[in-house]
Amino acid sequence: MSIYEKYKPTIGLEVHIQMLTKSKAYSSDINEYGALPNTNVSPITLGHPGTLPKANKKVIEYAVKLGIAVKGNIRKRNEYARKNYFYADLPKGYQITQDTTPIITGGHIDIQGDDGKVRGINLTRIHMEEDAGKSIHNQDPYDSLIDLNRAGVPLLEIVSEPEIKSSQEAYNFLTEVRKLVRYLEICDGNMEEGSLRCDANVSVNLKEASEFGRKVEVKNMNSIRNVQRAIEFEIKRQIDAIEKGEEIPQETRGFDAVAGITKSQRTKEAANDYRYFPEPDLLPVIVSQDYIEEVKATMPPLPNDLFRKYTREFGLSEYDAQILTDSKEIALYFEEVVNHTKAYKQAANWMMGAIKSYLNENALHIHQFPLKPEAVAALIDLVQDNKVSSSMANQKLFPALIEQPDASPLKLAEELNIIQDSSTDSIEPIIDEVLAQFPDKVEAYRSGKKGLLGMFMGEVMKRSKGKADPKTTNQLLQKKLDA
Ligand code: ADP
Ligand code: MG
Repeated sequence: MSIYEKYKPTIGLEVHIQMLTKSKAYSSDINEYGALPNTNVSPITLGHPGTLPKANKKVIEYAVKLGIAVKGNIRKRNEYARKNYFYADLPKGYQITQDTTPIITGGHIDIQGDDGKVRGINLTRIHMEEDAGKSIHNQDPYDSLIDLNRAGVPLLEIVSEPEIKSSQEAYNFLTEVRKLVRYLEICDGNMEEGSLRCDANVSVNLKEASEFGRKVEVKNMNSIRNVQRAIEFEIKRQIDAIEKGEEIPQETRGFDAVAGITKSQRTKEAANDYRYFPEPDLLPVIVSQDYIEEVKATMPPLPNDLFRKYTREFGLSEYDAQILTDSKEIALYFEEVVNHTKAYKQAANWMMGAIKSYLNENALHIHQFPLKPEAVAALIDLVQDNKVSSSMANQKLFPALIEQPDASPLKLAEELNIIQDSSTDSIEPIIDEVLAQFPDKVEAYRSGKKGLLGMFMGEVMKRSKGKADPKTTNQLLQKKLDA
């Protein structure tokens, strides 16, 4: 047994999401990424004397949305607190946050565990806070630069319980969080631009131990993949250290994505004491049950619910359901298609096959796709009802429909002359013709060469120009040959 197998890792994640509000958390300054530095900065953001913050309603709405989605408890009376520290990108000298009264407690994010089963990772809390400005250390050779546009941008911090057991599970957790906030349209989920950030708390201990080991907090990961890499490295580093008889100090470490390692930033002794106290400039916000119901009514379908519906009610594979629910736009399009046809599996195949290829080849999003879901459903039903063969639908009808998105699929199929013939009346004469032309083959078939059936089939299909319905043809042929 390798030394690594003797240990079990424990991970808890702290995820910050920047909210997609028009203005900041406590002022009307514009909240936008990429604006010219220090242009969205008013005296309120700077915390000048005499200014007063005012809570942004959208922040409450978004927090409640997320709370409903994770099935958490939504707090009625929400107080704000000041978290004090000095830093150049924090001109007020404190962040307005929530300390003892987070707006959401409990709830869970469902992930696929390492054992392949879906498991809920419990959440400790979700609270509202504001972002600090941005210190830029790598643009000027002598000075650090400060951009305060980000100061006051609303955040939600999601804190998980230490229930994540591997770097892969952490990856899955973040992927689910990102998908969820995108469905809810409360955050764009873009880790590269910092609108979704994650600190990973990692500890290891012997498998048989009943307590957790001492945790280390890892920061500075700019992609979900890098969170996974940082945790992977950290688990190994901690086990190596323990095996050497070293103690793991409680510390904060930064991830160096180029070297693929974590480096110590500060230890517990140097940790901040934030001296939280109630924010005197903001009244508590009361979230009533009526308000929660109002927000509930605006909730979009959630990815997990759709996944469950597709696997349990539609009988789709987990793989198909996963792909269909990955993006909300795709899922909603699919929802409309299956409002018009019951051929769920076929609909999924069209979404992930022809439609996806078309979008990829033309670098389009689903909302730019020319066909209405009704038309796609009608196309699917033509195949389902044996009116058009699957290959004709793919090769001829689908491209033609894209050229004329408003045409009726049935009419277009008629114009293209690809409607399959399943009437005995029109297939029978062709079969008779074929049998008459190959008397020796008929003889051979009847004396046991049953494999010749394929040749007869091919001949009939050719003469009908691909329009004879294969099933009817097959039945008729056998009947006549075996007669
Ligand atoms: P702190 O006060 O240092 O922020 P918390 O107890 O609030 O610590 O926990 C912060 C995060 O660390 C949470 O996500 C929690 O799940 C995680 N965590 C706590 N203890 C451990 C541990 N022993 N190993 C891994 N993660 C942990
Ligand atoms: Mg912490």
